[in-house]
Amino acid sequence: MKIFGMNVFNDSVMRERLPKNIYKSLKNTIDNGLPLEPSVAEVVASAMKDWAIEKGATHYTHWFQPLTGLTAEKHDSFIAPTNDGRVIMEFSGKELIKGEPDASSFPNGGIRSTFEARGYTAWDCTSPAFLREEGTNIVLCIPTAFCAYTGEALDNKTPLLRSMEALSKQAVRILRLFGDEETTRISSTVGPEQEYFLIDKAYYENRMDLVLTGRTLFGAKPPKGQEMEDQYFGSINERVSAFMHDVNVEAWKLGIAAKTQHKEVAPGQYEIAPIFSVTNVATDHNQLIMDILKKVANRHGLVCLLHEKPFAGVNGSGKHNNWALGTNSGKNLLDPGRTPHENAQFLTFLCAVLKAVDEHADLLRASAANPGNDHRLGANEAPPAIISVFLGDQLSDILAQLQNGGLTHSIAESRMNIGASTLPVLRKDSTDRNRTSPFAFTGNKFEFRMVPSSLSIAGPNIVLNSIVAEALCQMADRLEQAEDFNADLQKLLKEIAVKHSRIVFDGNNYSDEWVEEAERRGLPNIRSTVDATPAWVTEKAVALFEKHGVLSGTELHSRYEILLEQYNKIINIEAQTMLYMVKRQIMPAGLKMIQNLATGIGAVKAVSGALVSVQERLLNQVSSVMVAVDETLQVLEGKTNEALAMSEVFEQGVFYRDEVFTAMNALRGAVDQLEELVDKEYWPLPSYAEMLFKL
Ligand code: ADP
Ligand code: MG
Repeated sequence: MKIFGMNVFNDSVMRERLPKNIYKSLKNTIDNGLPLEPSVAEVVASAMKDWAIEKGATHYTHWFQPLTGLTAEKHDSFIAPTNDGRVIMEFSGKELIKGEPDASSFPNGGIRSTFEARGYTAWDCTSPAFLREEGTNIVLCIPTAFCAYTGEALDNKTPLLRSMEALSKQAVRILRLFGDEETTRISSTVGPEQEYFLIDKAYYENRMDLVLTGRTLFGAKPPKGQEMEDQYFGSINERVSAFMHDVNVEAWKLGIAAKTQHKEVAPGQYEIAPIFSVTNVATDHNQLIMDILKKVANRHGLVCLLHEKPFAGVNGSGKHNNWALGTNSGKNLLDPGRTPHENAQFLTFLCAVLKAVDEHADLLRASAANPGNDHRLGANEAPPAIISVFLGDQLSDILAQLQNGGLTHSIAESRMNIGASTLPVLRKDSTDRNRTSPFAFTGNKFEFRMVPSSLSIAGPNIVLNSIVAEALCQMADRLEQAEDFNADLQKLLKEIAVKHSRIVFDGNNYSDEWVEEAERRGLPNIRSTVDATPAWVTEKAVALFEKHGVLSGTELHSRYEILLEQYNKIINIEAQTMLYMVKRQIMPAGLKMIQNLATGIGAVKAVSGALVSVQERLLNQVSSVMVAVDETLQVLEGKTNEALAMSEVFEQGVFYRDEVFTAMNALRGAVDQLEELVDKEYWPLPSYAEMLFKL
């Protein structure tokens, strides 16, 4: 695997190219979070430049993640003019550590106004720099954090790094109580599984809705959907295989350990999962994977759709955020071992997660909210909108023992005989899988399954890290005062087990019974982005994030504004796109059909006495559906204008959700009926059957 990491300024390149003392000093910053010396940056910049230029780079960019959820970059070349009219290639330590993009053109929720535009990007040396090849253009990309002149974070990376610090600090406190004096740093680790759809580019280009909004706003149900269950893990066709091969190569070059790929449940749906890494690197890599998927698809005449629900009626896409806690010596703190009931340290971390998730379920839910996910959560495919934790038989049993105040045993794993002597005897996991839970313990990690496919995983991990840090902090506060550590720990874990076992549910999360049961347990069922977003600015949330230095009240309020604004803008764009398509493409198709039927009827009648009942029936049907299209169109137009006139974001959000969105669905209903009546020759849009099954 010569190509793996070939475009990354990684540890081995640094060791090879940096003077020993500089390398050591930089490593200290990366591994132990110590401040970076400017003199070190100078040497690193020079080595980085030489490496990049040898590999053909001419430009560099600070690569950052503004609150658009995408990545941003502004390319500068290395050239610097000399006095004698030549140029030399230059890159200083200052240019490496700090950039000054205009902050006012990125979402800032009122933190920056246009007349005070200054913003800064700052090098995140914990995520390695890399080269990006765009055709013949090669650019050195430096992962950076992005903040306002006043120091407030305007991006996802800054609070993510802060949340990792907070979590490390609190988790180390707990380890010290268990007598671990070695561990200095604990990082959350993440392996995100990314789902996506592929369709032929020719279809995409003929669908204004896909081009402008990423999802189909119209489309009659195809004769075949996913009912045959013949997609999941199905054999991959050659065109898609060639695409996946190129995706893997691009990912590997960037040091992304893309490992698993398979077909997903819906037709045209696929998944890619890399091997897990430290959270901020995993987050950068996930952003890069999304970018690679789109660019490579384009090369193959395909389009990759990352939207959560590109097609109604078949499953949508999400991201499974596999999350665990790793020490600097490589131990996973969420590994229960064979006999978890004897593993008090594991149980302490497990209880911390349960406490965190129960106390801050609203925040976790908010971190997974976006307009696309509103189509999925609770719609019998993705996890429901209610947060609960799946533990499985073994740990649920231990939790019950904890509640009763004594730990005696762990349900053991068993062996499984498949029944044919030529097949191996498999070790059976102590717990079966549960695919319906939004937050499932899967052996040695938790899998947060609510995350939307198009969203940066930074938000969910900022929340996870922070809420677990807070739970650990409260537990450490108490245990550090303990006179008898073991007795007090037992007591504390029992208390947590009793108080928070309501968050545990191992059954079918898609069932109606669970919705009722969850309500009885007092668990929140937050159905939409608009309802979820205020969780970012509750008193409880502000206190939590401020206490751990992750986000200030001002930063949280700015995020709240941005999220709601984005929701409103997205629904508005979808509504406007519908109006545009109906007026310019769909109604003309219907009218053409009417016109042709009418002239046809006239023509037949003029020459013969043949029956025209079929034509007349069709004409009546099409005409009456066209009336419905026209009526619903006008309602939507009125509602959209009303929404645009509103000024308070939350109120506007509620209106978009309840009024505009409802009007959009009514219009879609009428148009989809029309699609089933109108001659294929006249219908201006590729059908669901074509998009989903013809690749
Ligand atoms: P699934 O069965 O849910 O489809 P996959 O095997 O596709 O699971 O993905 C599991 C993901 O979990 C992978 O990205 C894997 O690297 C990741 N993972 C494994 N161990 C850890 C860990 N300790 N921390 C974070 N992620 C992990
Ligand atoms: Mg999974």
